[in-house]
Amino acid sequence: MQFNFEARAKEQRLCNKHDGYTSLMFMRPDSTEHWTGCPKCQDEIEQEKRQHERIQDEIEYKKRFITRLFNQAAIPPRFVDNSFDNYNIDTTEQQVAKNTMMEFAQNIKDNLKFGRNAILAGNPGNGKTHLSVATGRVAINEGYTVLFTTVANMIDRINEAGWNKATTIDNYAIPDLLILDEVANHFNSEEQKNLFKVLNCRYEQIKSTIIQTNLSMDELKAVLGDRIIDRLRQNNCVVLYFTWESYRK
Ligand SMILES: [Zn+2]
Repeated sequence: MQFNFEARAKEQRLCNKHDGYTSLMFMRPDSTEHWTGCPKCQDEIEQEKRQHERIQDEIEYKKRFITRLFNQAAIPPRFVDNSFDNYNIDTTEQQVAKNTMMEFAQNIKDNLKFGRNAILAGNPGNGKTHLSVATGRVAINEGYTVLFTTVANMIDRINEAGWNKATTIDNYAIPDLLILDEVANHFNSEEQKNLFKVLNCRYEQIKSTIIQTNLSMDELKAVLGDRIIDRLRQNNCVVLYFTWESYRK
């Protein structure tokens, strides 16, 4: 409380927590007395308030940062809420798939540091994307950059880049984790070469990639080549086959 006039009186007082201090008396506009408290206590209150504000600012900053990372990740709206918590499990295989990717996500710091990859292969509609996005979510919450794209979309971007093609390819090596959806075998040789270049670039930069494909491992080898497959599979790569839909039918 601040008053715009002079102290009318003063006396030595003792703070329970600190030493003695001089308390000043001011008259309030309604003619009641106001005695000032311990200045050290006052300082402490101020300090606590500033500390609290600082923590709030940091929380707010982190929230905005994470939101920005989510937006940059370009996860399609259909999958944006996918997490490990809302992944439905009907079969043992699904449980294994979930556990494997959860373990990958739990070790996300090491996995991204060492550029470990995951290959999720098998039938469509089996929740490959769900588990990839759930993994990406964990990475983003840890402050890592993630990008979700279909191969077709990536190829389009590279084709559109014209003379800037090499930079565009390099840019796909920037995110800490790339979720590459729909790795298929209907691309022409030039497009395949660009896909190869992106994966190779990421390998050289020690960046992790999650490959999602409806192809079998042999078909994937035919598309990407043995060399890239060997590079992807180095370093404890996770390989999961999503085949349970076919059992049920
Ligand atoms: Zn005090």
